Parts: sequence; structure tokens; C-alpha cells
Amino acid sequence: MDTVNKKTTRVRFAPSPTGFFHIGSARTALFNWLYAKHTGGTFILRIEDTDKARNTPEALRVLMDGMRWLGLDWDEGPEVEGAYGPYFQSQRNAIYKEYLEKLLKSGHAYEKEGAIWLKISGEPQVIEDAIRGTVVRGEEKDFVIFRSDGTPIFHFVNVVDDIAMAITHVIRGEDHLSNTSKHMELFKAFGAPVPIFAHIPLILKTDGPGKMSKRDKGALVEEYQNRHFLPQALRNYLCLLGWSPKDDREIVSIQEIITLFDLHGINKNNARFDEQKLAFINGEYLRSLPLEEFIVLTRPVLVEAGVFPAKGDEDYLKAMLSICKEKIRSIEGLAEYTAYFFKDDFMWDEATRVKVFAKGQPKERLKEVCEALQGYQDLTEVGFERLIHELAEKHGVKTSEYLLPVRFALSGQGVGPSLFGIMRVLGKERMINRIENFLKKNSN
Ligand code: GLU
Repeated sequence: MDTVNKKTTRVRFAPSPTGFFHIGSARTALFNWLYAKHTGGTFILRIEDTDKARNTPEALRVLMDGMRWLGLDWDEGPEVEGAYGPYFQSQRNAIYKEYLEKLLKSGHAYEKEGAIWLKISGEPQVIEDAIRGTVVRGEEKDFVIFRSDGTPIFHFVNVVDDIAMAITHVIRGEDHLSNTSKHMELFKAFGAPVPIFAHIPLILKTDGPGKMSKRDKGALVEEYQNRHFLPQALRNYLCLLGWSPKDDREIVSIQEIITLFDLHGINKNNARFDEQKLAFINGEYLRSLPLEEFIVLTRPVLVEAGVFPAKGDEDYLKAMLSICKEKIRSIEGLAEYTAYFFKDDFMWDEATRVKVFAKGQPKERLKEVCEALQGYQDLTEVGFERLIHELAEKHGVKTSEYLLPVRFALSGQGVGPSLFGIMRVLGKERMINRIENFLKKNSN
């Protein structure tokens, strides 16, 4: 039997690539990775690719790209290798045959009707699950481990690999709990130590009952890659799906999570996927980025959307992004959110127009702003704020009577970055032009 150094944690993520990297799988990979980091152990990626039709190179690519994007690098596995390879089940047939021989020899397995069966002990299997506590399950019947066509069954290869790869902790989705008594029968038949099991609760869909499936919106890691989410934000969020730092904090650095993470801290209850919380966390991470990094991430998105010209004014872009960074929750939608900074014929939000004209004298207010701007010197945010305050005082109206009309005339929108920020970025000349045009177009 392989020698297992009990002091060294060895955990594995053992996906069967399907072409989709579901966030539930990503969380399983993440919890394994965290536990390896927490214990100073080894994180193994093992590809359970015995179903040849589904396990294509593209499917593997999706999975590995997604894991690397999330920063879940493996210590052993495809493209890294290690002492316990190969890491593809499709390449381990000789090992499975060898292990099968052991069971046939010891009398734990027998042949019947062309298939090979495991002779079970029939005893109740006591699973000391690190998350769920003691779970007792039992098998009633012998089960097939090798089909009559000579191919091994999932339970067999899964356990043989856990033994051969000296896995100490099996951290996987709760959907596998029902397999665990079969797996324990197999470990015992081999005379191998049973690893510690930790079955992670399911992820429920945002609304309604049931497990999140790959068809649910937001269920695939790829989607967040395409939508320009920050991987560190998604990773932080996934940590909170079933685990928490035991206080109300939601933004926690990965270093701190590694320190605090433990299998016993994982929640027994199912976790519900909350897109709003993820968006909030993404926004917090965006805000905490240094401006230069934020520009590196967003500039290509704006160029690709045709909002920012490849040879555009970089200082202007920088000024604009500095005010957006404080407000947005995701880079997706940034092009639409900022288009008016780069062209004068922007879209007008009609609902906001109705609001603008519903009360007060918006055109009067805009005329006042336009006139006041002419000779105005303090072109800072504080300066523009003062300008509006002074006008409000002079004309005996509330400052709010200026804010929405000015925002609308400058951007066509009712919401956006700070208004005084927009004013500073657009500059005096552009502002005067936009307000004059607006007044001209709305002169009746
Ligand atoms: N290939 C199995 C799956 O993707 C692995 C189960 C396990 O982690 O033991 O669900």
C-alpha cells in the first residue's frame, strides 16, 4: 500500500469536465484549495474523464481557464504534473487493473455474468463527516465495480485514485453523500485508511426552491469572465457561500480567509446564491483598485464598445474613470454608463426628461447656470458646488432645483457619477455648449 504521511494534507478537486464550469464546482474547488492553503498541504486537480464523449479538450480548457482565472492554482495535475500522476483517469487503466487484481485475490471481488462485483461487508458505515457530523449509511447489496465491457465504474476509480494519490480529505458536494457508503466499503476492502469526508451543502438558486443548475442565470464562471467581473470579487463571494468569518464582514482578503478557513466552519445548511450581494462585493473590489489598475481593466472594454477612440484623450479618460470608479458595481455596462462623455449626441432618458420638466422652472435654472459659468474661474468640484449654491441663494430656490436639470442637460441621464465630478471632467466649454443646445431644443 502507498505510504500516507498523515501530517500532510492532500486534497483533490475531481471534476468530470462537461464544457461548463458551474459555480457550485468552482466553490468545491475553492474550498479544497483553501483547505490545502490553510493546512500547508497539497491541492490536486484530477480529471475524472472516463466518459469519453463529454470530456473533450475544450471542456478541459474551460475548466482550467476558469480555475486559473479565479486564482485556484493546483500543485499537482494537468500541465503541472507531480509524483502521483497521470492525473487523467482515462490514462490510469493499468493502475485500475492492478487494484482490481488485489480485490480479486483477497476475495473482496468476484465475477458474475461478465461483470466484476464488490462483495460488501453489509455493516453500517459510520461517516464522520467534518461538516455534517456522524452520518450512518449502509449498502444492502453487492455492486458492480467493473462492467462486462471491461470499463470501471465511477465508485471504483474514484476510490482507487483517492488511495493511490494518498488523499487525506475528500471535500465534495453533498450530492455525493449517497455514494459515500459504497466508497467506504471500497476503502475497507482495500485495507486502506478512510479519508476524512466533508460534504459541502448545495447552492440554491436565487429565487425559488431547488439547486442552481447550469441553465440558471449566473451559474457559470465563464459568464463572469465575459462580464468583466473581478475574479477576486467572485472568489470572495464564493467563500461566503457556505462559510463565513463569523462576523458580519463580507469583504475579506484571501489571506485572511486562508487563515480562518476550516472544514468545521462550513455551514450545514444550503446556501442561496445572491446576485445582488455578488454585485455589491464586485463594486467594493472595483473601488479599492488603484486608479491605474482600474484603467487597465476598463479602457479596452470602452475601446471595444466604440465609446473611447483608440487614439482618444488619455487624460480625459483618466479623469472620467476616476469618478466612475466610485460609483459602479461592475465593468459590464460601463460603456453605456459613460458614452455621453465622448459624444454630444448621446441618448436621452425619457423618464428622466418627464421628471425634469414636472416641477420648478428647469429652463430658467439652466440659463442661470450657463450665464454663471461664462466667467467662472474655479473649475474644481468644490468650485462647481459653490456655483450652484450661490445661484440657489441668489434666486431663492433650493439647490435641488438645479441638480437634476443640469445632470440631464449634460448627460441625458438621471443617475451617474457625482454631478460636480461630471462638471469638472466635461469642463466649462463643453458644459456651456450642452446646456445651450438643450435650451435650444427645448425652447417651446
Ligand atoms: N467526478 C465527480 C464529480 O464531478 C467527483 C466526485 C468526488 O469529488 O469524489 O462530481
